[in-house]
Amino acid sequence: MIAKRYEPFWKTKSMLDMDSQEWESLCDGCGKCCLQKLQDEEDDAVYYTNLACAQLDISACRCRVYEDRQQHVAECLVLKPEDVAQFDWLPDTCSYRVLRETGDLPNWHPLVTGSDKEMLRQGLSVRHYAVTETSVDEDRWQEHIIRWVHGMPEPFEP
Ligand code: SF4
Ligand code: SF4
Repeated sequence: MIAKRYEPFWKTKSMLDMDSQEWESLCDGCGKCCLQKLQDEEDDAVYYTNLACAQLDISACRCRVYEDRQQHVAECLVLKPEDVAQFDWLPDTCSYRVLRETGDLPNWHPLVTGSDKEMLRQGLSVRHYAVTETSVDEDRWQEHIIRWVHGMPEPFEP
């Protein structure tokens, strides 16, 4: 008898049908969305920096206040399945975005490989290059603008 091939939940369920544990587990823990962003006042373009929110434990790439993060950081956005169509502001390697755009998770995702080793090996976590926002005066944040090329950060001048 041929065993039925197991299909993981992210391939069989829509994001709207996932339970909260499944939804949270889609996050690969890269920390990119916890980097400060600057918005151009003229054309509203958004630029990421390598400056991490003060609540991000950079070495572990984990939010220190995750459960009640919006009470600590009012502008921290909570990702919800019903908002998935508006996820274009997320980095293009963000697993929520990749799943929405391709129907699958990236092959380095911890849910696919069983650990975060492969994503760390590929340098996809901000722990390799982020510095905390409090270490830089706000009038110099512009010098920290980056863009990602194949998931890796490069200094960028808009
Ligand atoms: S960018 Fe996406 S995958 Fe990375 S930490 Fe943020 S929500 Fe999770
Ligand atoms: S409060 Fe936590 S989840 Fe929100 S941006 Fe800061 S570190 Fe990230």
